[in-house]
Amino acid sequence: MRFLVSAGPTREFLDPVRFLSNRSTGKMGFAVAEAAVAAGHEAVLVAGPVTLPTPDGVRRIDVVSACEMLAALERELPRADVLVMTAAVADWRPKALSPVKLKKAGMAATLELVANPDILKTLAPLKGRKVFVGFAAETGDPTEEARRKLVSKGLDLICANDVTVSGAGFGVDTNIVTIFGRDGSRTELPLMSKRAVADHVVAKACSLL
Ligand code: C5P
Repeated sequence: MRFLVSAGPTREFLDPVRFLSNRSTGKMGFAVAEAAVAAGHEAVLVAGPVTLPTPDGVRRIDVVSACEMLAALERELPRADVLVMTAAVADWRPKALSPVKLKKAGMAATLELVANPDILKTLAPLKGRKVFVGFAAETGDPTEEARRKLVSKGLDLICANDVTVSGAGFGVDTNIVTIFGRDGSRTELPLMSKRAVADHVVAKACSLL
């Protein structure tokens, strides 16, 4: 099978030195790509700005902004069987991008933003028989939001975690994930390494193909 995986944050620049972003480090997505290759699949990793080494056997495409991530995924999706979106895509970007550094004195106190495209929703018409897997990082019990996003984003699986629980979420090597299926299934995984979570995600995605 061919896995297409997104990972990391996106950066939305307002001038050459300033950007909006988030705390994602890319560890979950890199683990999914590594797990896919270890299970004998091909993996293409579309990565936002992160400092992680590329896992052996993985083809990596680096991007910066949400729009660039969408373009790379649109290009790669036709050859993929499974799309796993672990990326923490920035929801908004500055309306204007200045080619020169903005001067503090001349800057407004408010920043005008425009919504970034929802990548999963944009790719949904290209889904066909491919398996689409999303991730949902929530604060508090993720069940309700995960089920809502599963439907609204047209996913087969969504892996949800409460980022306020120790051992889950940003930057750490472990995660506590519940995998919800479109078929109503619910698999609660205990605290385990992101790599072990990734093995479950890869196996579950393949079982749906
Ligand atoms: O809405 P939220 O960001 O919590 O949804 C999480 C899922 O949606 C993740 O799989 C993420 O990669 C994806 N997403 C997306 N495009 C966005 C924002 C999130 O595909 N603009």
